[in-house]
Amino acid sequence: MKMICIGRNYSEHARELNNPVPSEPVFFMKPESAQLRNNQPFFYPEFSKDIHYEAELVMHVCKVGRNIQEKFAGTYFDGIGVGIDFTARDLQQKAKEKGLPWEMAKAFDFSAPVSKFIPVSEFPDLKNIRFGLYKNNEMVQDGNSSDMIFSFDQIIAYVSKFVTLKQGDYIFTGTPAGVGPVKIGDSLEAFIGGKKMLLCNIR
Ligand code: MG
Repeated sequence: MKMICIGRNYSEHARELNNPVPSEPVFFMKPESAQLRNNQPFFYPEFSKDIHYEAELVMHVCKVGRNIQEKFAGTYFDGIGVGIDFTARDLQQKAKEKGLPWEMAKAFDFSAPVSKFIPVSEFPDLKNIRFGLYKNNEMVQDGNSSDMIFSFDQIIAYVSKFVTLKQGDYIFTGTPAGVGPVKIGDSLEAFIGGKKMLLCNIR
């Protein structure tokens, strides 16, 4: 499996990082080895001094597809969860300045804790999903899928022009405003609606 991650899909977040609001989705990937399962702790890596959390809704891909038309995109994902796109902001900043790829900053081991998935059928409206993140019991991100620049269906259609989607892939759909650093000892809890879905302690 692979994880496809959309960048800058919430305009307020694009602005907080001084990025232009994109006219097409921006995406990158995390490998299978980036998965962090079952509320396991995240061990702060020694190669960075500025790891940030980014809470994101995550689609679970349920069948293989490429060049998917937007009108059929809804049949290619069957669950929505919440994940954290851990980012080594210091390494990402250096890469951006040099115009280099982001893999070191985004694709490192255990950089992607993901919750269990809620079946799509349980959401009354995919365009109105509240989600976010608590850090040490304080809400630091409070987003809603209604603020996404590119919808779930548009993301599927766009990404599948370039990359074949396979059953079991995850698609991170971008983070709302409020990203910030973590330090050892912090506790992160991501939620969808009123439900805490994911716990990740920083060790
Ligand atoms: Mg992200």
